[in-house]
This record gives sequence, structure tokens and C-alpha cells, in this order.
Amino acid sequence: MKVTIVGCSGSYPGPDSPASCYLLEADGFRLVLDLGSGSLGALQRHTSLYDVDAVCLSHLHADHCLDMCAYHVARTYGPQAPYPTLPVYAPADAPSRLGAAYGMPDEPEMEHAFDFLPLSPGSFEVGPFTVTAGLVNHPVEAYGFRVSHGGTSVAYSGDTGESAELVKLAAGADLLLCEASFVERPGLPADLHLTGRQAAQHAAKAGVGRLVLTHLVPWNDQKTVLEEASGGGYGGPLELARSGAVYELT
Ligand SMILES: [Zn+2]
Ligand SMILES: [Zn+2]
Repeated sequence: MKVTIVGCSGSYPGPDSPASCYLLEADGFRLVLDLGSGSLGALQRHTSLYDVDAVCLSHLHADHCLDMCAYHVARTYGPQAPYPTLPVYAPADAPSRLGAAYGMPDEPEMEHAFDFLPLSPGSFEVGPFTVTAGLVNHPVEAYGFRVSHGGTSVAYSGDTGESAELVKLAAGADLLLCEASFVERPGLPADLHLTGRQAAQHAAKAGVGRLVLTHLVPWNDQKTVLEEASGGGYGGPLELARSGAVYELT
């Protein structure tokens, strides 16, 4: 499985990366996890928009799903339209929320381009991948994912505070893409986001092969995020996510 970090900026796009978006490829199948603000542009460095086979949205905050509006334009009005309806696994509110964001008078209109499939906790098959979705701790319905193929696995936290479910999803995974949105300070809110140290603690408990810190918020000093993660008791390879980075899992 090939994992490409398309967007790793947290909460809003930064100067060097769009918001959350990851491209997973195996057996010629392309699965996109999240399509946050600005990510549709960078995604085209790695694949044609018309070669994507499925999308999974972790939750419906703008930095994880807003470019679905732009993608709707590309798939509805592109030169070879109509394109096949694209499966989109997402929280059940996705059609109405994205339709409202787009400004559609008639919300099912977006369903000409996308086949919205409501997420719930559990495993399902997407092309050659087995995807496991688990509810994580965030103020809205939010999922973390584990995606497996051919004996390899990547786990993605989505947005979450401390979460036993995330440890479960990531158990033994080759790669954990874990959010590290917060720098440590007194009075951080619970059930919202993780610090680098907490991300590393989750990675250590799950025994993952590699930890990549992502959802990096532009107003933070990322060196501090990485330093805090280094003190989290995780002994494996640890680094900051970077737009364009590729991980080949074998
Ligand atoms: Zn976010
Ligand atoms: Zn969020």
C-alpha cells in the first residue's frame, strides 16, 4: 500500500500544505481520506481527480470535508461528464451539510456526483482495502480509521482528544497518522485534540511501526510539537507530516 500525505495542515490551510487529505493506493485503486480546505489542488499533483475510486470523510468540520464542494464541480461539469458516481463514506449528515455549504437549492443534487454511504463503527470493504471506522473523541460525530491491505495497515486519527478507540484502531499498524494539534499549556480542553506527547503515548500503547504527526496547526511552532512527542515514550520512528511525503507499506 502506498500512502501519500496530500494535506497535513490542522484546522486551516498553511503556507506549505492544505488541510487534511491523504491518498491511499493499492492494486490500482485510489482511496482518499478527508478532503479538507485547499486539498483538491494538491491532490492533482498525485492523481487525476477522475482516477479516485472512493472517499472517506472522518467528520464534517470544514478542514476535513469542504473541498467536496469543489470536487462536485469537477465531477459534475468536467469535460467528460457525467463521471461515474463516486462512493463517499461519511457521517450521515454529509449530503445536507455539503449541499448547504455549496449553496444548493435542492440538496440531493450533490448526489448525482457522489453516492453518500453513512459511516458507523465497524469494518467494511472499499475496493481492495478493509476499512475499520471507530468513533473518536471530538465535539461532533468523528471517526478514526484503520485501512488494511495485503497484511499492511495504516491508522488515521482524524481529529480526537485522548481515545482508547484510537489505540484499538492503531494496534500493531505499520503507520499511524496521528493528529498533534496542541502545544502543551495548562487548561487544554478535553475531548478535542491531542498534543504531540499524547500522540506518542497513543502510538506507544498501540505498538505502531511508525508515527507521523499530522493536523499541524500553522500557529504552532512545529519543533515544539515534535519535541513534546519525543518525550511521549514512543521508541519507533517519529516525524512531522509533510505535504507530498510518501510511505510505501510492505
Ligand atoms: Zn481538523
Ligand atoms: Zn475537527
